[in-house]
Amino acid sequence: MKILAIDIGGTAIKYGTVLEDYTIEQAFEIPTEAHLGGPHLMNKIMGIVDTYAAEIDCVGISTAGQVNSELGKIIFASENIPNYTGIEITKTIQKKHHLLVSVENDVNAAATAEAKFGAGRGYSDFLCLTYGTGVGGAMWINNKIYTGTHFSAGEFGHIVTHTGGKKCTCGNNGCYEMYASTRALVNAVREATGKTLNGREIFSPEHFNNTTVRAVIDNWIDEIIGGLTTLIFIFNPPCIILGGGIMNEDYVISEIDRRIHARNIHSFRSVAIKRAAMKNQAGMLGAAYLAKEKLLES
Ligand SMILES: [Zn+2]
Repeated sequence: MKILAIDIGGTAIKYGTVLEDYTIEQAFEIPTEAHLGGPHLMNKIMGIVDTYAAEIDCVGISTAGQVNSELGKIIFASENIPNYTGIEITKTIQKKHHLLVSVENDVNAAATAEAKFGAGRGYSDFLCLTYGTGVGGAMWINNKIYTGTHFSAGEFGHIVTHTGGKKCTCGNNGCYEMYASTRALVNAVREATGKTLNGREIFSPEHFNNTTVRAVIDNWIDEIIGGLTTLIFIFNPPCIILGGGIMNEDYVISEIDRRIHARNIHSFRSVAIKRAAMKNQAGMLGAAYLAKEKLLES
């Protein structure tokens, strides 16, 4: 069996063939060119599928945006990819190719990869959050993704943590991701120091040891914990998996772990805080796993 896995992010599309034992046989990366819009992106996806159609058994796709995973359709995408909302990925591919297609939201696909191959192995339940431009979320409950009634569950980035706070891209004010995302950290450092630094630069010794920068980082970690506190009270999860490049910083993950476990509440003391293990391959492997499962069930 051979699976074509495609992971569509805001800046890059990663794709390649995955073997039955989930070995990635080959992998490539091309720019998403998201600004050119959904139809252009769909043409790129078709180009990839056309190339591999003769040698594969199914197609697994992980993509940004809210996805109706039963129909393989984008039900909502932000303005980062204009006109992506409404694109019917599965239907478009199957008009041309007699192939099984599975489409899932990128954080859900990544959480699936963590459950099967990464930090979530051995857990029947966990929460997964990724920190970047925004904050993405996924719920792994009873050994599968919980999607909600209309495939929109797990939007942890839009929990309101600051009523009447900063305007969010979703139209509300005070959403978690406006305060806890990597972008929020970058903005807060700029406001405090006048310097525009990326996530990695903020944690270089030169800046990290600056008291002003450190205070901003510590406040930002408290913002991260504010959202996690809500989730721990709701779910009492055995494990929370944190992803996104910023979580590779040891100080961030260890401080989150320390501050959460300092709370004298059982659900806080018992939750394991883990760093995502799958890194760049999460989307492709999660998408491949979901496609293979769907093929085996069909
Ligand atoms: Zn929002």
